[in-house]
Amino acid sequence: MERTILHCDCNGFFASVECMLHPELRQVPMAVCGDPESRHGIILAKNEPAKAYGIHTAETIWQAKRKCPQLVLTAPRFQEYRRICRRINDIYRRFTDQVEPFSIDESWLDVTGSRVLFGSGRQIADRLRDTVRTEIGITISVGVSFNKIFAKLGSDYKKPDATTVISRRNYREIVWPLPVNTLLFCGKKAARTLAGIGVHTIGDLAGCRPEFLSSRLGKAGMQLYEYANGMDDIPVADGRTMREVKSVGNSLTFRRDLSGQEDIHQAVQALADSVSSRMRRRKLKCWVVQIGIKNPSFQYITRQKTLAFPSHQAKTLAAAGEKLLADCWNPGAPIRMLSLSGSGLVPNDAPGGQLCFFSEKNEADSERVERIETAMDSIRNRFGSHAVTFGGLLKDDIGLEGLHRK
Ligand SMILES: [Mg+2]
Repeated sequence: MERTILHCDCNGFFASVECMLHPELRQVPMAVCGDPESRHGIILAKNEPAKAYGIHTAETIWQAKRKCPQLVLTAPRFQEYRRICRRINDIYRRFTDQVEPFSIDESWLDVTGSRVLFGSGRQIADRLRDTVRTEIGITISVGVSFNKIFAKLGSDYKKPDATTVISRRNYREIVWPLPVNTLLFCGKKAARTLAGIGVHTIGDLAGCRPEFLSSRLGKAGMQLYEYANGMDDIPVADGRTMREVKSVGNSLTFRRDLSGQEDIHQAVQALADSVSSRMRRRKLKCWVVQIGIKNPSFQYITRQKTLAFPSHQAKTLAAAGEKLLADCWNPGAPIRMLSLSGSGLVPNDAPGGQLCFFSEKNEADSERVERIETAMDSIRNRFGSHAVTFGGLLKDDIGLEGLHRK
């Protein structure tokens, strides 16, 4: 039987939730952004009045402020967003038990078996839009298709509050003119390689010989060829069996109490190193860095900070951790235990997770750090976790070696 797959995407999700919780924000241009105090923080979501000023998602705060000096900025509150996202997914589950959350505001639904009860894919999509708008107060866009890849393209095709059906009959008209990098899993590198061989649209890709694509892109080439031609049969996973990762963190009680800048620096570096390497393994980046500090009398405090952009680089996590410590802790006071974790997790390739949004210099810098840290990961995978470490960690009298065994 032909499958009917829906991809539901909340429109301007973070900003929609903020406006729903604070209706006075609806009338003024507002945006949710990474660390509002950093000019380099990026816009994550904006409301309709902000859109009218030409504010784009993923541009920097200073670019946005130049277009609209009175723009109201607010930091993201991931707990709130998760709460609303759970309620939205509960609505989806009224229509099918096959709901697979893809990111905080996107889910795939397989409604093949629900058509006898609720009507065609388009009818179900329209009803979902209505229900979410009335019960939650935010709008969603829905793509309807016979596979997941095209359903995802459909939800992006027309927004806000729209349904797009991509069928076997119309996919050549709708999908093929789109740029090749709008295809899910076609990363920046693959798009660059494809541009080099004259492949710019999904239609160009669909018309290539698959062996030729494999010779240029390896296994991914074959996969992209199939996606472009609507040959994707990946099932919608049952979301309830998937465990949601809320945060990735690590903590350490030290062999002796930490005291002084040098100790703190070493410990934060080591924690950031281990946490970032675990995030990279899971293909995640974090928006929020949190530290926890316990003193010898077992008093415990936590502090957290939103980053300017999501990261899984040890260098960025460590810098945030040290900044938090500097703001709340007298460096001379002893520390018994320290933890560092990342939350507000997003997949590597989520909006804002990509490097392409940053200025040239930042991008080159960030790609260099990425290469170094990825190389460290692969050395550790082959030779064990002690094989390589940052220079500063070679002398270890506080018990950091315990971290890598976790
Ligand atoms: Mg969205």
